[in-house]
Amino acid sequence: MSAVGFIGLGIMGSGMARNLFRAGHSLYVWNRTRSAAEAFAKELVNEQCGESKGYSSGNAQVHVADSPRSVAGACNVIYSMLSTPEAALSVHLDAERGTVQELGPQKMLIECSTLDVSTMERLSEAVHQRGALFLEAPVSGSKVPAQTGTLIFLCSGDRAAYDRVASSGLDVMGKASFFLGERCGAGTKMKIVVNMIMGSMMVALAEGASLAESCGLSTETLNEILGLGAMNSPLFSMKLPNMISSQYEAHFPLKHQQKDLRFAISLGDEMEQWLPLSAIANEVFKAAQASGFGDYDFSAVVEALRNKKRRPSN
Ligand code: NAP
Repeated sequence: MSAVGFIGLGIMGSGMARNLFRAGHSLYVWNRTRSAAEAFAKELVNEQCGESKGYSSGNAQVHVADSPRSVAGACNVIYSMLSTPEAALSVHLDAERGTVQELGPQKMLIECSTLDVSTMERLSEAVHQRGALFLEAPVSGSKVPAQTGTLIFLCSGDRAAYDRVASSGLDVMGKASFFLGERCGAGTKMKIVVNMIMGSMMVALAEGASLAESCGLSTETLNEILGLGAMNSPLFSMKLPNMISSQYEAHFPLKHQQKDLRFAISLGDEMEQWLPLSAIANEVFKAAQASGFGDYDFSAVVEALRNKKRRPSN
């Protein structure tokens, strides 16, 4: 199996790249903080040397590259999973160290980050100018689906790139993938819609938990009631316990949820689509971020709403 590149080994990228390795792909990885890439590579090698856990990494190897450019030089298929448009633009378009410097025919960039449409368009154009293929492939799913290979890929761009990776990469990182057309932006728009809905759901849950607390009601009982009725949802049942315990280990960092609501509102403006609920949810996430919860899990949004005087524990 040919080596693939993976750039960005954060919460999502580390799980995704690990699944590619476990399926037998040798990897060239790069991460801005090099120590994280080195620790990641060491973990994979240790896992490979240890008892078989049902994976088939075989002779796959992992190399830590010196720059995004060297990842693109070494591989035909390059995945990236980065935090923001700024990060993606610098990784791919930097005049000295960017991936596009090494792209050409036979190569393809698969951008999995959640970005805005205009950034995806800039990347697509730069990749095409080099004669390479571009696929945007943002994902639905969080830390655990990234670890367990059960993400959902929302793809658009070059069909040939999709055909190449759908059954030799996306399949081991995800449980489903959708090809939404050749037009750049379709995958990103779908991802923005999905995360916009999720942002409002999280604020609704946080308000419900806060009002229940203020009334002296048991939030554990609230969780049970929600789980038994039509509002039963994995999102609610996973995140309400975080709110109850005030434990917010980041699976989806709050700052990224706010970024995605920002993209949604901007897309709504462009489409002349009224998004009143999302605009308010965005303000609540902004307040939580301003209070220092940006790097916490997005369920920490409850901290912006919680009536601290009336919490039962006080
Ligand atoms: P994360 O843990 O914050 O990781 C972000 C990655 O981007 C890290 O590798 C980080 O490198 C790198 N990075 C940040 N700024 C950079 C820069 N200026 N130059 C180069 N690299 C930079 O984020 P994540 O949760 O994995 O999310 C990654 C993307 O997936 C985001 O667009 C997010 O919205 C999206 N997403 C996340 C989830 C989720 O549940 N977590 C789900 C679906 C989609 P360092 O290690 O050096 O900081």
